[in-house]
Amino acid sequence: MLNKQSETLFEPTATVNQVIETKGESIPTGLSDFSATKEAARCLEGYVSAHDDGTRLFRFLSALAAEVLADLNKGGAGEVATIKIHNNLYPHGAKEDASNRVSGAWNDWVKKSEDRLIGLQDYAANQGLDYYPWPMKKGDSKGGFGRHTHYAIEVRPIGKQALESQAREVTSVPYADIRYIRETTPKPAWWASWFFSKEFHLAGWRRILFLTPAILMLIAALGVFLVVWFTLSHQQAIPPSRILVLVATAAAAGYFAWIMVSGVGRLGDKRIIMAPDILIGFREYGVQLELTRIDSTPRAASRLGLVRYAATCPICGAKVQVESGGREFHGRLVGRCQESPDEHVFSFDRVTRSGKYLRATSPH
Ligand SMILES: [Zn+2]
Repeated sequence: MLNKQSETLFEPTATVNQVIETKGESIPTGLSDFSATKEAARCLEGYVSAHDDGTRLFRFLSALAAEVLADLNKGGAGEVATIKIHNNLYPHGAKEDASNRVSGAWNDWVKKSEDRLIGLQDYAANQGLDYYPWPMKKGDSKGGFGRHTHYAIEVRPIGKQALESQAREVTSVPYADIRYIRETTPKPAWWASWFFSKEFHLAGWRRILFLTPAILMLIAALGVFLVVWFTLSHQQAIPPSRILVLVATAAAAGYFAWIMVSGVGRLGDKRIIMAPDILIGFREYGVQLELTRIDSTPRAASRLGLVRYAATCPICGAKVQVESGGREFHGRLVGRCQESPDEHVFSFDRVTRSGKYLRATSPH
């Protein structure tokens, strides 16, 4: 099923290209637009099957893509009513609940859409499209006769900026076994968010700002160590249990400082590392911490961001997540297939967003 989709996706029709090129930013909503809508709906379908996380949101997106495609194939305008989405989602559900259930799923999309924007753009670009699908709600949710809510898929052009997040022209993309997308852009934990809104220079005295958290942590650890040392050396007859607590406190402070300092150091060197759990929300997983250059000038500032790279396994079609390379690929991030994490292993290059097999058993 996947193969069939990608075949069609890789051949956008000539009319589609024409529409996009001649009209630039604004895509007309005339008749000629529907072939692009169809491609966009197929693109959304592919995205859902590749990056499904099992939530209600993805079931909604899948139902939306299927119903929009069905409507277009019947010669419609690709706008589907609440009841159609509901019947797709809950074939045996009571009709009275349709409005509530579907608008609940829609709200999931509204909440998550910002996080998923880049992922959809990346996915569409990997399929050879220069536009991406964007679920839309039309009409008044408050109802009223003749003003029923409709759901549709808007065709949006991919801005150049969105594609070039590296701010570095990739002159030749080498042969790749796998292409990654920035699946989501998770939000940082609230207490860390101030660190993410800033721009960092990784050279000169301004590097200090980037190193601030690590330096603070180091000072705190040093403080704890001094207090413990002072207590142990100046007080007589300390019970052994208290000594144990003091030493454990100093050890913990030292450990956290080390994690912090080595993490910040590695991030500065490699520009991407696995995000420490304390930085990210409770439900997030497999998140990377990435330093992205703001523009391509040599000493440009960088911005810190959370991102989750993912891909589809070319061997088995399962999801590939970017993880630490462990002992085998020490100091590297690699893509590991969720179905066969030890065997379907790929390299990961954040600049080209592509990778190659790291096992000798390449099917090529
Ligand atoms: Zn696999």
